[in-house]
Amino acid sequence: MSRFQTHAVDNQPPEFAPRDPWQDDIALREALAREGGDAHAGQVARYGALAGGELLALSFDAHRDRPRLRSHDRFGHRIDTVEFHPNYHRIMAAAVEHGVAGLSWADGSPGAHVARAALCYLHNQAEPGTSCPLTMTHAAVPVLRQAPGLREWADKVAACRYDPRDVAIDGKPGVTLGMGMTEKQGGSDVRANTTIATSLGVGGEYALVGHKWFFSAPMSDGFLVLAQAPGGLSCFLLPRRLPDGAKNAFALMRLKDKLGDWSNASGEVEFMEARAWRIGDEGRGIATILQMVMLTRLDCMLGSAAQIRMALAQALHHASHRMAFGKRLIEQPLMRNVLADLAIESEAALALSMRVARAVDASPRDPREAALARIATAIGKYWICKRAPAFVNEAQECLGGAGYIEESILPRLYRQAPLNSIWEGSGNIQCLDVLRALAREPESAEALVAELDAASCEDRDYDAALPALRESLRSTDEAGARMLVERLALALQAGLLLRANSPLAGLFCRSRLGGGHGLALGTLPADADFAMPIARAWPM
Ligand SMILES: Cc1cc2nc3c(=O)[nH]c(=O)nc-3n(C[C@H](O)[C@H](O)[C@H](O)COP(=O)(O)OP(=O)(O)OC[C@H]3O[C@@H](n4cnc5c(N)ncnc54)[C@H](O)[C@@H]3O)c2cc1C
Repeated sequence: MSRFQTHAVDNQPPEFAPRDPWQDDIALREALAREGGDAHAGQVARYGALAGGELLALSFDAHRDRPRLRSHDRFGHRIDTVEFHPNYHRIMAAAVEHGVAGLSWADGSPGAHVARAALCYLHNQAEPGTSCPLTMTHAAVPVLRQAPGLREWADKVAACRYDPRDVAIDGKPGVTLGMGMTEKQGGSDVRANTTIATSLGVGGEYALVGHKWFFSAPMSDGFLVLAQAPGGLSCFLLPRRLPDGAKNAFALMRLKDKLGDWSNASGEVEFMEARAWRIGDEGRGIATILQMVMLTRLDCMLGSAAQIRMALAQALHHASHRMAFGKRLIEQPLMRNVLADLAIESEAALALSMRVARAVDASPRDPREAALARIATAIGKYWICKRAPAFVNEAQECLGGAGYIEESILPRLYRQAPLNSIWEGSGNIQCLDVLRALAREPESAEALVAELDAASCEDRDYDAALPALRESLRSTDEAGARMLVERLALALQAGLLLRANSPLAGLFCRSRLGGGHGLALGTLPADADFAMPIARAWPM
């Protein structure tokens, strides 16, 4: 035996799972308490161990064995069903039952949205594909609650029960929701939708004829869709099964062959006089569904912040063990710059996401927070989702060749990373939305300025950046909107770190606001204290 042993395996890191992404994340625990979600800390903590252990283990097969469309049964009847790997359902069941989709609505107490945001952050580290149906289910509730006749749907989200059976919701303890806005001729500009809704004259019921070009989580129990009614673009709830149990009249044409997001199914669908119930007035479709979209955009921020954190944890674990040129990677000065910079970026992404979660949480009680949520969601969605792909690639590089290999999980993260910046309003759309809010909703600009001012007099670079930033809020220049939003995002992140007394705040301000940073990550000033951000991100 030993005669054929070519080598001993050494200088490889130990296994990095199970991991508890709650216990190993000081910044998350602090953010939950700071933003008012502490009452739920026990529930969030329990989910951390589950997500980083069992759910992460289940995720590999759910991801590898992609969902399959079964359009017909063996006898030729249309069934329009998607089959998932059983682990997909196990992961969904655990997430729903722990409140990832429903905690905000099951427990209306202040802080519930913040705690759910933390659950969402933990879940996204384990299995981002299922985050799509979980997010849409969560976000649909404020829209469903607008229609008294649809109360049962909202209540069944709040019930936090998962039931994947393809039956009418009457017989189900819990439901999931999807959304259909994007058509072939236009996604960002949904006014171009051509799906026609014809009133059936009773109970706000309509028949829909048309298509949707992207239709994720097509096994959801119901979908919020936009269609053209006589009074203009309107919002509808389209059930998968009608109340009598019959299949609604829509056909899944095919599943998209996606870059990533493999555990989740995204389809193309055609409506053939599919039944749907109108929510809100005819012609108010965009305004109605925007309440859902605001929440899915928050989850895009949280999802990207989570991918960032997961990639950082992988990089730190690897660099702590791997030796090169006689020293561990984490001891090499240039690698320390990279890791410290990643750590700063990660904490800032989390801080902004959790702050927006608090603003959303407080919105019904506090108009100032509602105004902040309105604009800060678009700012954060643009910036954090934009940063994730470059960040994941940088973390991947920390692992060297191993980071390019599927078992390391980095390739999966890398494929997932661009998605949050594309769906729910792509980057430019977010920037134009910020301009719109600044121009038309003075309360949003005021809330933003108040938020930024609250951190003044703490840091020289921060204070120096504020006057120009205040001045730029008057801008209506579309072509310059990305630069404006990037600078607002950095200032918001800096202000939050300063107010949280994060030890990373000074270095964040110096590098991101004071000009002490290049275009790539890992370009902190050479004299910076790298030990502190690394130790904070990786207390092991
Ligand atoms: C995996 C996946 C799943 C999806 N699931 C769903 C789903 O379940 N339901 C659903 O409704 N949609 C879904 N989508 C669609 C997604 O929301 C849209 O792709 C997205 O909103 C962009 O729309 P579009 O593809 O039509 O691009 P376009 O609207 O053609 O935009 C293309 C680019 O142009 C930019 N742009 C547009 N207008 C302007 C402007 N005025 N100025 C400057 N730039 C502009 C956009 O920012 C974008 O970068 C999904 C997409 C993906 C990739």
